[in-house]
Amino acid sequence: MTDRNISAARCGLTLCHDCGLLTRLAPPAHEALCPRCGAHLHFRKPASIARTWALLIAAMVLYIPANVLPVMYTSSLFGAQRDTIMSGVVYLWTSGSWSLAIIVFIASVAVPMLKIIALAYLLLSVQFHSTRQPEQRARIYRIVEFVGRWSMLDIYVITVLVALVQFDALATIKAGPAALAFGAVVVLTMFAAMAFDPRLIWDTAEERHVHTP
Ligand SMILES: [Zn+2]
Repeated sequence: MTDRNISAARCGLTLCHDCGLLTRLAPPAHEALCPRCGAHLHFRKPASIARTWALLIAAMVLYIPANVLPVMYTSSLFGAQRDTIMSGVVYLWTSGSWSLAIIVFIASVAVPMLKIIALAYLLLSVQFHSTRQPEQRARIYRIVEFVGRWSMLDIYVITVLVALVQFDALATIKAGPAALAFGAVVVLTMFAAMAFDPRLIWDTAEERHVHTP
């Protein structure tokens, strides 16, 4: 066993999530409290896989109405129109706003779907005790977390759309039910990424290393 493969948990050490104090815990130590700030201590995020799955499945379910239901209703002198995210993208594309169409498509369709797929892949790989390419999976997790921080881009895109439509003084725009579902997908995938404990990726690699020296 090399130094690289000894985890703090194996040495009985854990960090307090609230104050960062390094503490020695005797496993199983589910009831332990941080001696400095009193927060609950645990080696790994409790029920990380189950929680992440729950949030992720909720996001998967809501991803459907987010794309199928109308995201906005526009009404003008020329009549009323209801648009889903994809029909909005197609409209932007055909009306010549290619860059905006690409931004909306990436932010609203591609990124949430890729986030869901990436998190499902990480969960399955941990559940099936995969030891393949932990570095690559750690990188995927970092990307998902990074993207989560920039998820407000989606809101930004909707704001731009609303602003564009409002330029036409006689048109009104109202958010449709998909906007709500879409916001929920963004929030749920962010929470799912937070609930996932990336150290689980390395635990399996470490176990395998210990068992087959
Ligand atoms: Zn603490």
